[in-house]
Amino acid sequence: MAKKWYPVIDYSTCNECGACVKKCSHGVYNKEKELTPIVTNPEECIDHCHGCGNICPQGAITYVGEDTGWVPTNLDKK
Ligand code: SF4
Ligand code: SF4
Repeated sequence: MAKKWYPVIDYSTCNECGACVKKCSHGVYNKEKELTPIVTNPEECIDHCHGCGNICPQGAITYVGEDTGWVPTNLDKK
């Protein structure tokens, strides 16, 4: 896998709301496991997209390859 950008879920803070799975239209998450976020197709993730991370209410999503200074939002709601 040459791809160097994809989401990583912190399952210690994720509450399995399913928002990230619903948000992504690129098939990165396994829809059959919804609402639990399982990254099954990281190679389909769009480089430097923060779509799922920006809507995660738990701030549980970070990205492999992150180099923009972006940090998870909503961390205060943990
Ligand atoms: S970063 Fe974007 S493309 Fe990648 S899994 Fe999240 S919503 Fe999908
Ligand atoms: S949006 Fe965040 S809290 Fe909800 S399922 Fe995804 S990683 Fe877990």
